[in-house]
Amino acid sequence: MKKIVTTSPKETAAVAKELAARLRGGEVVALYGNLGAGKTTFAQALAKALGVKKRVQSPTFILMQEYRLTKRGPLKMFLHVDAYRGDAAQASMIGLTEYLGRPDTVVLVEWAERIQELLPKKTITVRMEHRGGDRRTISVSG
Ligand code: ADP
Ligand code: MG
Repeated sequence: MKKIVTTSPKETAAVAKELAARLRGGEVVALYGNLGAGKTTFAQALAKALGVKKRVQSPTFILMQEYRLTKRGPLKMFLHVDAYRGDAAQASMIGLTEYLGRPDTVVLVEWAERIQELLPKKTITVRMEHRGGDRRTISVSG
């Protein structure tokens, strides 16, 4: 496990970028952390590093949003999920499970605990904690 302290959104973005460089497709990235911990900041930076050109917003009201990738070879899609207002049953119903582990897709889930039972065993876990001011701790494992 890797534990990092960041002191700005930019530093958090750099951590996401580093993780993005490892992704080949088929991975699920589960983000945990309270409101304001930096999950969406992390998701936006990861998407950007994967080559997403569109603005990645929090998909809170639509639960998930897919973005097509053109510069990552066999990795063709980034799926951004915000499970805050959802649960496993709802996520399954709208088809999330069909994306999990798909070799052409990276799935990132904010509020991953809401759909914990759906996540594959080898999910990459990112825990984010607000430490006051602009400080955040980020632990990446898997
Ligand atoms: P979440 O999705 O977890 O609710 P957001 O990424 O939407 O969090 O919001 C995090 C907020 O905290 C943003 O306004 C961001 O600018 C601010 N912020 C301050 N310091 C940091 C940091 N070190 N890492 C990430 N975000 C930070
Ligand atoms: Mg968010």
